[in-house]
Amino acid sequence: MVDINKLVRENILRLTPYSCARDEYQGNSGIFMDANENPYGTLNRYPDPYQRKLKAAISAYKGVGEEKIFLGNGSDEIIDLCFRIFCNPGVDKVLTFTPTYGMYEVSASINDIKILKIPLNTDFQIDLPGVMPLLTDKNLKLIFICSPNNPTGSSMNYTDVEAILKNYNGILLIDEAYIDFSDKPSFITLIDKYPNLIVMQTFSKAFGLAAVRVGMAFSGNTIIKLFNKVKPPYNISKINQKAVLQKLEKADELKIVVAKIIKEKIRVSSALKKLKLTEIVYPSDANFLLVKVKDANYIYNALVKENIIVRNRTSVVNNCLRITIGTRIENNKLLNTLKTIRV
Ligand code: PMP
Repeated sequence: MVDINKLVRENILRLTPYSCARDEYQGNSGIFMDANENPYGTLNRYPDPYQRKLKAAISAYKGVGEEKIFLGNGSDEIIDLCFRIFCNPGVDKVLTFTPTYGMYEVSASINDIKILKIPLNTDFQIDLPGVMPLLTDKNLKLIFICSPNNPTGSSMNYTDVEAILKNYNGILLIDEAYIDFSDKPSFITLIDKYPNLIVMQTFSKAFGLAAVRVGMAFSGNTIIKLFNKVKPPYNISKINQKAVLQKLEKADELKIVVAKIIKEKIRVSSALKKLKLTEIVYPSDANFLLVKVKDANYIYNALVKENIIVRNRTSVVNNCLRITIGTRIENNKLLNTLKTIRV
């Protein structure tokens, strides 16, 4: 069994966390003279630092105990906290499977952590023989697996991920930002089996709350406690907690919206395949399509001229555009415009 505390930076183990007024007294009513707040107004009080009401709702929705949930100011905050808790700047390393979500590398650089990159194979899957020899490196504190992966849209093979978990004693974070669009199972079911596993999801994609900035981490209680120790005291605003709660109350609508997006993805994918400028439309378990085209730079610019903005990923996958599925009208506009572009 992995001893999580042995993976934690010394300064974090020694850290006396900030104790805020709402840590000392947790009641809802009373005359509050403890937090130097303004007594007037509607948003004058600090929010619950541990978002208990929201976590109870997430727990019921996901079927995961509240003590196994951490909420961050977007998933991006959770990524950064992983570096700050586990990785000694200038000493430790992180491993990613490329091409993948760019923030892993940016966050590694901010924290002065060396990044190892293993390219995904031609099916955009993990190169297991390539990764196995690296797993015993004591300084490899963190591995990021993005599944479904951005920008490839591929979900990683379950058995490959479990093979890594079985042979690795550092922290494995599986980023499931796009899981709600996928019919593959989540890795959440493995958090009780592997205490070094963090599964991350977000309200930014399927829930349609990108502006709200709430990301979720699911893990064993030891890691959740570490997140709580290091996070800024009131990292999720009261307004944002409320916005997510309201969305969870209407969770049935989510299924309808997701089904609509998936249906559109299938339609757009087959329409794209018929275009002359298209070379490959990769299969996708997410709400976007990675499309290999004849000349990505030219097509990207031609679309911008028509006020249609896609993501040019040619720097990471040659001649590829990443196209997020929009509304039916938006998708039709894209397809009609693409039909007019000559390359
Ligand atoms: N993970 C992946 C794979 C993403 O693509 C993104 C955003 N594009 C994020 C995380 C960031 O999510 P959040 O909005 O929760 O910070």
